Amino acid sequence: MGIVGAGVLGLAAAKVLQERGHTVAIFEGRPDVGGQVVTFEAGGQRLECFYHHLFTNDTTAIRYIDEMGYGPKMRWIESKTAMLRGGKVYPFVTPVDLLKYTPVSLIGRVRLGLAAVWLRRQKDWNKYEGVTARRWMERAVGSKAFAGVWGPLLRGKFADQADNVGMTWLWGKVYLRFASRKGKGGMKEQLGYLQGSFGQYIEELGRRVAAAGATIHLNCPVEEVVTGDGGVRGIRAGGELHEFDRVLMTTPNIITKKIAPDLPRDYVAVLDRVRYQWATCLVLALDRPLSDTYWLSIADPLPFVACIEHTNFMAPEEYGGNHIVYLSNYMSPGDPLLDLPAEEVFERYLSGIRTINPAFDRAWVKQMWLFKDPGGQPVITTNYSRSIPSMRTGISGLYLANTTQVYPEDRGQNYSLRLGEQVADLMDRDAKAAG
Ligand SMILES: Cc1cc2nc3c(=O)[nH]c(=O)nc-3n(C[C@H](O)[C@H](O)[C@H](O)COP(=O)(O)OP(=O)(O)OC[C@H]3O[C@@H](n4cnc5c(N)ncnc54)[C@H](O)[C@@H]3O)c2cc1C
Repeated sequence: MGIVGAGVLGLAAAKVLQERGHTVAIFEGRPDVGGQVVTFEAGGQRLECFYHHLFTNDTTAIRYIDEMGYGPKMRWIESKTAMLRGGKVYPFVTPVDLLKYTPVSLIGRVRLGLAAVWLRRQKDWNKYEGVTARRWMERAVGSKAFAGVWGPLLRGKFADQADNVGMTWLWGKVYLRFASRKGKGGMKEQLGYLQGSFGQYIEELGRRVAAAGATIHLNCPVEEVVTGDGGVRGIRAGGELHEFDRVLMTTPNIITKKIAPDLPRDYVAVLDRVRYQWATCLVLALDRPLSDTYWLSIADPLPFVACIEHTNFMAPEEYGGNHIVYLSNYMSPGDPLLDLPAEEVFERYLSGIRTINPAFDRAWVKQMWLFKDPGGQPVITTNYSRSIPSMRTGISGLYLANTTQVYPEDRGQNYSLRLGEQVADLMDRDAKAAG
C-alpha cells in the first residue's frame, strides 16, 4: 500500500497496516519525517518550528511516546497562561484569575465564568453545529465581555474568518481543555512537553516502520496519484510510477486536489468547503527572558496573536542558555505579511514585543527564524460536519485522512495519530473484503 506524507498520521497508518500484514511504502516531500511537527536546531537542541505541547487527555499521543520509549522524557508542568489586554498581562488559568480580569465588567466576568461552567457540562456538541461562536457567546455573556476575551482570540486564530467559526469549535476548546484538568473544580492544568522535542518519538516511529519493512522515500514529493478504470493504480514520484492497489493521501485538501486530479467532482466540492489559515511562527533566541509567562494570548490589537515563551516551560539551559520565544500568527492566504523575510516580520512585530516588555531591545536577539505552513489551521465553520470529506474518496482504493477530519476537537498530534489508526483499519477491512 502507498502512503503520501510522513507526518504523524501517515506513520501511524503505516504502523497499523504493517501490523495487519500489509507491505507499505511512504512518499514524503520533505527531507525528514514529522510533517507539522517539523523541528530545527536552536542552541544545540532540537526544537519544533511550530510550538507544541500536549494535554493530559491526549492519550493516543502519550501512548505512542511511551511505546517509542520516550515516556521517561515527558515533562508535565502547571500551565502559566495569561492574557494581554490594555497593555497589561493578566494570569488566565483558574476561575479566580477570571474574576480578577478587570478589562471586563464584574457582571461580564461572572457571565464568562458561568458560560464556561455550562459548556464544560455539555457532552452533546451537535446542538452547537448551526450557530456561530460569536452569536452564541454574545448571547451568553454579552457583546462587551465577548469582545474582551473570545472575540480577540477567535480573530487571532481565524483572522477574517472569525465571525464564521462554529460554536462547536469553541465548545471543544472549553470542554476538552477542562476535561484535561485535574484537581477540585478543574483549578489546575498541566501541559506536557517531550524533553528534546516531539521529533524524537516521531523519528523513532519512522525507524520502526522502516525496520519492519516499509520503504520511506524522503525528498520525494508525489507528483500525481494515478488512477484508471475507476480505481487507483499507483503513485507517480520522481517521474516514476510506483504501483499500489491502495493509496492513502495525508495531505491537506489544497494539495490533495492537485496531486489527485481525477477525484470525483462532488468529492472535490466537499474539499473546497474547508478554508485554511496559514500558520506562521517567528522564533526568537534571546539572551534574557521576555516575560515570565509560558503562553500569552493577545487580546490587544498587536501584530501577532500569541507569544509562547518556550523557556518558561523547559529550562533555557536546554537551548544553550537561550530564551526561546515563538510569536505566532494565523493569516488568510494572500496576506502580504506572508511574503516578508524574518527580519522584516520582526520589524513589524517590534512594537508588539515592547508592549509585552517595554525594556525589550533588539540587541537581546541572538538569532531568529521564520516558519510558515499553508495548511496550519482548517477554519471550522458552522455545520462543519457537512464539510468533512469521507476517508473513502469515491475512487476505489484511494483514501484521504487529514486534519480537516478532526472534529469536534481542535487539530493536534493526538487526533492525527488516532485518524491514522482509523484509516488504516478501514483500508485493511476493505482489502480483506476485496479478498
Ligand atoms: C502552528 C501549529 C501549532 C500546533 N500546535 C500543536 C500542539 O501544541 N500540540 C499538538 O499536539 N499539535 C499541535 N499542532 C498540530 C499537529 O502538528 C498536527 O495536528 C499534526 O502534526 C498533523 O499531522 P498530519 O500527519 O495529519 O499532517 P502533516 O504533519 O501536515 O503531514 C502531511 C505530510 O505530507 C507531506 N506532503 C505534502 N505534500 C506532499 C506531496 N506532494 N508528496 C509527498 N508528501 C507530501 C508534508 O510534507 C507532510 O510531511 C500544531 C500545528 C500547527 C501548524
